[in-house]
Amino acid sequence: MSRPLSVFLDNGHGNDTPGKRSSFPGLKTLYEYEFNRDIVTLITLLLEKAAVPSARIVPELYDVSISERIRRVNRMVSAASKDGFQTVLVSVHANAGKGSGFEAWTSKGKTRSDLLAELILDAAPKYLKGFAVRKDVTDGDGDKESNDFSLLTKTLCPAVLTENLFMDTLKDYQFLCSHAGRVAIAEMHVAAILNYKETL
Ligand SMILES: [Zn+2]
Repeated sequence: MSRPLSVFLDNGHGNDTPGKRSSFPGLKTLYEYEFNRDIVTLITLLLEKAAVPSARIVPELYDVSISERIRRVNRMVSAASKDGFQTVLVSVHANAGKGSGFEAWTSKGKTRSDLLAELILDAAPKYLKGFAVRKDVTDGDGDKESNDFSLLTKTLCPAVLTENLFMDTLKDYQFLCSHAGRVAIAEMHVAAILNYKETL
């Protein structure tokens, strides 16, 4: 019998965030804030079907500061813990830098975060067919904002940040723009979260 789990979902960036978008001539612009929010919506619906409660950290369309997002997560973690729930945070992003494939990030030394990240990475090949799962990102090609890391290090629950393919690589961009691609990305997260829940 697994213990109840409450899932917190962060959609990075906002409609006022500079950059963080595709720019293929003649093709519609993919904005990361919109993608992140759509994936979080799809994950929420799938978790609802699986009877796993979840909450969105940033319901706003605009960018909310990292310190405020950390505050929100930690408030929710405290409340859920009091109610007997285990908690986990997933922050959804799309990558840029002209690479290709999927990455999952955690802070150092948090084993529960590592477990969820591993489960997402394990699920990735099934849902992201034809895309690389970039497991070793310590070789300098992952240029993360330090802000995103504080969401992983200063939150009081296991936390994973996913970089779902690259907005500025055409093959990845096309998958990210497609409904089927978005559903697959959401399903990948939920499959991993449900597997994680079984370990509690
Ligand atoms: Zn991002």
